[in-house]
Amino acid sequence: KTAKQPKPDWIRIKLTTGDNYQEIKSMMRSKTLHTVCEEARCPNIYECWANRTATFMILGDICTRACRFCAVNTGLPTELDLQEPERVAEAAEGMNLRHCVVTSVARDDLADGGAQIFAETVAAIRKRLPLCSVEVLIPDFLGERNSLEIVMNSNPDILNHNIETVERMSDRVRAKAKYRRSMELLRRAKEMKPDIPTKSSIMLGVGEEWDEILQAMDDLRAVNCDILTLGQYLQPSPKHLNVEKYYPPEEFALLKEEGLKRGFSHVESAPLVRSSYRAHEQVKSAAQA
Ligand code: SF4
Ligand code: SF4
Repeated sequence: KTAKQPKPDWIRIKLTTGDNYQEIKSMMRSKTLHTVCEEARCPNIYECWANRTATFMILGDICTRACRFCAVNTGLPTELDLQEPERVAEAAEGMNLRHCVVTSVARDDLADGGAQIFAETVAAIRKRLPLCSVEVLIPDFLGERNSLEIVMNSNPDILNHNIETVERMSDRVRAKAKYRRSMELLRRAKEMKPDIPTKSSIMLGVGEEWDEILQAMDDLRAVNCDILTLGQYLQPSPKHLNVEKYYPPEEFALLKEEGLKRGFSHVESAPLVRSSYRAHEQVKSAAQA
């Protein structure tokens, strides 16, 4: 076990609160909805909400898996809420979002993994907010092709599925998920809908080597993944996986160059980057690519 790394000073929460932020916050208070922005205490919340981007977590807040980096509760999920797509869409409309990310816990207890609710949520948002881009950040659906197809047929603006880490670290870091299965999901998504940009994310600092990060980028490009985000892993609690390394901003910048060299249409790479950070810009750059 390695010694605990001190948190460097480039990991700081930006404390600026704009009007949009306050407005959205009071909107959220009036609904029983979960945003990842708040629950994960995301450091980008002021910036994202001011830019009218938010991430909703659907299908409850209890996950059937227990990844070692993740702060979401594990257990037996509650029943399926069939009104959820409509409530999320209503909130997105109330927030007048420009970009809406829809994600979920892993619902391995459901036959379709929750794919139908994902698809209905995309449709419900589109109906109320035709100009809002919708990104889905999906679990691996245990590799079920039909579930992925249901989601792809809802025509999201971006299909996002995180590999989270390099191949060697996958089993240690993620619960049940498999590196190759995630790559296959991204490959199939492209095969089903070649025009929908695909996206993935790697969190850095869990013990991966530099060359392994480059290899993961190559693997993602081999399945035609378009957009890549790289951010620093931060330990949610002492029970979670240790941070093995804090990458300085210069190394994030180098990795961004490596990604662009490999042909990703958009790479976000910085310590506080999260999967949905500045996602509204990625829709634009993917459309131009
Ligand atoms: Fe929310 Fe994602 Fe932005 Fe964080 S990066 S505030 S989770 S939209
Ligand atoms: Fe967290 Fe997702 Fe893993 Fe569940 S599957 S523990 S929500 S990262």
